Amino acid sequence: MEAPKKKIAVMTSGGDSPGMNGVVRAVVRMAIHMGCDAFAIYEGYEGLVRGGECIKKMEWSDVRGWLSEGGTLIGTARCMAFYERPGRLTAAKNLVLNGIDALIICGGDGSLTGADKFRDEWPSLLAELVSTGQLTQNQVDPYKHLNLVGLVGSIDNDLSGTDATIGCYSALARICEMVDYIEATASSHSRAFVIEVMGRHCGWLALLAGVATGADFVFIPERPIDHDWKEDMCTVVKRHRNIGKRKTIVIVAEGARDKNGTKITPEEVKDLLADKSDGGLALDTRITTLGHVQRGGTAVAYDRMLATLQGVEAVKAVLEATPETETCFIAINENKIVRKPLMKAVAETKSVSKAVDEKDFDKAMSLRDTEFSDQYKSYLTTTNVMVDDRKLSQEKRMRVGFINVGAPAGGMNAAVRAAVAYCISRGHEPIAIHNGFAGFARHHDDKPVGSVRPFDWLETDSWASKGGSEIGTNRELPSESGMELIANLIAQYKFDALFIIGGFEAFHSLSELRKAREQYPSLCIPMTLLPATISNNVPGTEYSLGSDTCLNELVQYCDKIKQSASATRRRVFVIETQGGRSGYVATLSGLGVGASAVYIPEEGISLEMLNADVNHLKDVFRKDTGQSRAGRLILVNEKASKVYHAKLIADIIREEAHDRFESRESIPGHVQQGGVPSPMDRCRAVRLAIKCMEHLESFGKGNLSAAKDDPLSASVIGIQGSDVVFSPMKALEEQGTDWPNRRPKAAAWLHIREIVDILGGRPNVPKPEKSLTGLIAKDTKRGIV
Ligand code: ADP
Repeated sequence: MEAPKKKIAVMTSGGDSPGMNGVVRAVVRMAIHMGCDAFAIYEGYEGLVRGGECIKKMEWSDVRGWLSEGGTLIGTARCMAFYERPGRLTAAKNLVLNGIDALIICGGDGSLTGADKFRDEWPSLLAELVSTGQLTQNQVDPYKHLNLVGLVGSIDNDLSGTDATIGCYSALARICEMVDYIEATASSHSRAFVIEVMGRHCGWLALLAGVATGADFVFIPERPIDHDWKEDMCTVVKRHRNIGKRKTIVIVAEGARDKNGTKITPEEVKDLLADKSDGGLALDTRITTLGHVQRGGTAVAYDRMLATLQGVEAVKAVLEATPETETCFIAINENKIVRKPLMKAVAETKSVSKAVDEKDFDKAMSLRDTEFSDQYKSYLTTTNVMVDDRKLSQEKRMRVGFINVGAPAGGMNAAVRAAVAYCISRGHEPIAIHNGFAGFARHHDDKPVGSVRPFDWLETDSWASKGGSEIGTNRELPSESGMELIANLIAQYKFDALFIIGGFEAFHSLSELRKAREQYPSLCIPMTLLPATISNNVPGTEYSLGSDTCLNELVQYCDKIKQSASATRRRVFVIETQGGRSGYVATLSGLGVGASAVYIPEEGISLEMLNADVNHLKDVFRKDTGQSRAGRLILVNEKASKVYHAKLIADIIREEAHDRFESRESIPGHVQQGGVPSPMDRCRAVRLAIKCMEHLESFGKGNLSAAKDDPLSASVIGIQGSDVVFSPMKALEEQGTDWPNRRPKAAAWLHIREIVDILGGRPNVPKPEKSLTGLIAKDTKRGIV
């Protein structure tokens, strides 16, 4: 006899956050894929206590289209009963009576504290249920260990141990969008705005919004101003106004306090900025409280990715758990999804609030993740540019050349701005090389202005949220411009270091410069590359600036296209994405929109594969009873095949469908570069650019022979797993690069391809002969779309 299927339940709890629906979809589909029954507990802990209708079995098709819905479709509630033992007793009884083997809870720190308590009490709850005759020993025996896994869904990003919570980047996106709008009007009227954002105990939203928008001042709970905040803020704002800034933006977190623990209100800040008395700033000041818009809307691409990958990981965790396994939650550190002990995270989160209450702010900061303190440093650097106390002595000050290479990508300007700010604050001289190596070689001595110019801080300061490349970019390689000329120009302009921002061409350029060092000593200066390309195909990093902006554009585009089909129904869209010979954006946007299939260059396309997919689509539409009217999507990377391009694939599908369904191709093209860069790209740009400057600075000025011998003097900064690292260019060139295909040899994201297929319900289709993804699971337990 077959063993009964395991029952896995998923619940959303506490404040809603964008991405929670993605969690439910991923858990339900992954559970079904793994041969389990999936359940949803509606209305959070309230539903668990109530039982009955609130605990509902979920089928594969119940969660179709959920990725693009905001909030949580299975509801959430604040539940007073669960704070008390009797409530938790009833909840335990309901779990046992419904035969739930494992519970996956997505919520904020409150919900996970509740979960932790529930787990802790579980044996005694079962004992009480038996001793009071509510359940028999036989009934409770199979459930001796509560198999529970937490997922952090919260817009505040307030849980210790994870860099991001599901929903926080969507909330940040909404805040930055609002601040960007406000900036335009502030600048027009030369006004000041005080913007209050959410975050009672955690200043992450306020801090990152400040970094992403280049705000003048930020108030967060974890780090009150050491001195008199009023004086400090006025000094900074005055300084910025004195250099000619026409707008002032101050961001205040809900929980902001001064060093004595007294709350700082937006009204107080406003009064100070508007103070007309002698020496006062006398600015025309307005307050904007963003409120619940911060929670609203659909999830950004990153949150969809996080929700989906963490949901899948949670199902794996509950299935792998043994009675000895410590209860875990799923975290992300930089780019790595990891399981961590729930109890520790809950305890640490509590200690942050406690430290803030006790005014031990150093401790509060130290308990936040490294990204938080890095970002705090970034914010200080970019807002205190003109302060002299961080300047190096004259002989250590360098002339740093800035150059953008390749196509524009979101975050390039934010990176330049931050690095310029760093340079000025340290006394270095940042110099812009306009329009890449081509501009450098051909226009450096143009009159009246050549392509080599010092930065004007007032102008650069406004680049935090600008898309494109303000200093101009070009694809030309140094060898094409003339290596000797470039080497001479570097000597002529007396550059002590070179900061390159760009994609694969930038990588190739740096490789050429490094190789030419033997011949041209002027190239022995330290040089570093900050990868920026929507294709995310630069060796040495799992993330390039601009790729998040591109994914957001694609996800929004696909959502709209999908919806457009709802009037006609039964339509398949074949969407061509950019990405060069890297399938990253196709795969990740496929994950974010729930694509039926993704075609990527790493795998290729074969006739057999197309045939299998067409047959599968026929099957899907035959079984479709019409609950979901949205169209289905196939994403195809522009270089997935030399023959089967988007239009041809759409034509084949249409021909084979014999009028049972329709098929259209759609090519978003350069829209994918995005308009305004995403906050994630902007914030990471700032953080990584400052790290690059510190790295270049570490070689010291004029120490060329030492620099030449140090492999890291020509390097690429990157996010690898859970670390930010500099990789030596030589090693990357020689071992890490698939040169003919212009991408890294090992793509860290390739395993995600399988998850897109699993959750999209794609059956095991035959792989083309040269596929790199032969690792697609061999099991046949796929659900049906
Ligand atoms: P969030 O999860 O967003 O932080 P809350 O703090 O409101 O939101 O918590 C959500 C629910 O989790 C509460 O309504 C309550 O049912 C449960 N909960 C929170 N804290 C505890 C606790 N200390 N003990 C038991 N249950 C709790």
